[in-house]
Amino acid sequence: MSSGGNRLQRAERRALQREDEKYLNVPLNLGPDPRSIAAHTRHMVHLFSNPAAASPCADAMAHLGALYSRTVPKADLACRRGCGSCCTQLVTVTAPEALWVAAQIRHKMPVIEKMRAADAQTHGLSMEARLKSHIVCPLLKDAACSIYAARPVGCRAFVSLSLAACLATFVDGAEPQIPTPARHTDILYTCRILLYAALRLKGLKDAAYELNAAVLAALAYDDAEARWLAGEDIFASVPVTGTVPPAFELSISQLVAHLAPTV
Ligand code: SF4
Repeated sequence: MSSGGNRLQRAERRALQREDEKYLNVPLNLGPDPRSIAAHTRHMVHLFSNPAAASPCADAMAHLGALYSRTVPKADLACRRGCGSCCTQLVTVTAPEALWVAAQIRHKMPVIEKMRAADAQTHGLSMEARLKSHIVCPLLKDAACSIYAARPVGCRAFVSLSLAACLATFVDGAEPQIPTPARHTDILYTCRILLYAALRLKGLKDAAYELNAAVLAALAYDDAEARWLAGEDIFASVPVTGTVPPAFELSISQLVAHLAPTV
């Protein structure tokens, strides 16, 4: 981010950083107090900027994933290990999510081959066509996610209150009607807003891509993450699948404008 004329002095930014620490290891506060969201967004900007980190993207996405998990309330979900029925959907990811997934499989040729085969079948399919294709995510192994700790934020939020509804949708091809707790969706949206805001504050591209295509693009470079963090658009050939919904756009731009002087 370019430093505007109203940017806080270094000592003031350090003081804010210390203040932020109070919010970082507790659930996200979605209430009217904006300090929790501000603290996590600023923290993610710092994580993306950390020159000492082996993988700034992994650190930032691990923080966001842990935040989501810590914030969602206990709910009577139908989701269980061994049920991967929803892992046939189109998964959209931002670049740091794709880079983190790519790092998990970089030296696993059989998985990469499975991903290439899946990509050949799914490339360019719409959300609806992808659902009807029943093509299973190449990262699913023995009905469980093989990169569970590094799974994309969207995958964390694929939750359901009804196994029957999932089977009807993902196995029988019925119209998708998956009952999801509204609170989970609110928390997912807020996590996405602060991720997009952090990317913009850091001057990084905030596009969303289909998982397989983006991960394969990242695997084309040994130093994919360093290139992307340096501003090289290594995902230029990957179709953008997600645009920021207008309802998010206003929140993201307000958050960016509010936080820009503080990072
Ligand atoms: S990344 Fe993991 S959780 Fe997400 S669709 Fe693939 S197997 Fe399922």
